[in-house]
Amino acid sequence: MASNEDIELLKDGERLDGRSFDELRDINIEAGILKRADGSAYIEWGKNKVMAAVYGPREMHPRHAQETTKAVVRARYNMAAFSVPDRKRPGPDRRSIEISKLVSEALEKVVFTEKYPRSVIDVFIEVLQASAGTRCAGLTVASVALADAGIPMSDMVAGCASGKIEDQVVLDLGKNEDNYGQADVPIGYIPRTEELCLLQMDGNLTIEEYEKAMELSIDACEEIYELQRGALKEKYSTDLDEDEIEELKEGVE
Ligand code: ADP
Repeated sequence: MASNEDIELLKDGERLDGRSFDELRDINIEAGILKRADGSAYIEWGKNKVMAAVYGPREMHPRHAQETTKAVVRARYNMAAFSVPDRKRPGPDRRSIEISKLVSEALEKVVFTEKYPRSVIDVFIEVLQASAGTRCAGLTVASVALADAGIPMSDMVAGCASGKIEDQVVLDLGKNEDNYGQADVPIGYIPRTEELCLLQMDGNLTIEEYEKAMELSIDACEEIYELQRGALKEKYSTDLDEDEIEELKEGVE
């Protein structure tokens, strides 16, 4: 967050992209787009374009990395070289290693890992185009890909950030707001239990500002959660009525 007083982020009290302070950028999510992955999903969030692919559960190699009582959720966040205006040097850097770790830990909170001892569930997050908020977009789309893979989970995780620009608390920072704003607070939220599984803060907020930011982000996560569910429903929707579904279920049991 390279705060710069000279860069204007509000004009006549309004955000430059015309959004209100509590408005998300446009979000579109699609489930199940890759044939060879066990599960996959794609998200467009503003100008961000992010893909997630899930492989597993499968036996963990190397064996010394196995956990005897549970599966390891191993997320890898990667930005394509062409995802940012200046070419990004390929391969892991400090930032992507950090994001991979915190996304892995956030997803582990919802996956029933104890069902698959000694296994690994690989989650590849590929950022094709980046424009602020990619860790939240990555976490959100990875949750849909895990569900698409049929991995048992207590819930999906929705991610979103709020922050501060020109002393105003606003939802879902855009690129310049993120780069030149005063603070950025990304969260990962589990709607069913109302728990946080990711919380970071870049910059400074007063307690009141922090509380406002959390309120904005949590409300937005509830909205994003509906989009995640909508993407899965679209892929898995059926013309069968409830009775026909029950009949099929009985057949399987
Ligand atoms: P997030 O994408 O989760 O907001 P950051 O706050 O670290 O993560 O990054 C903000 C934005 O800065 C990114 O979304 C991306 O647009 C840009 N960015 C990040 N890393 C690089 C990089 N190595 N080169 C150019 N732009 C980058």
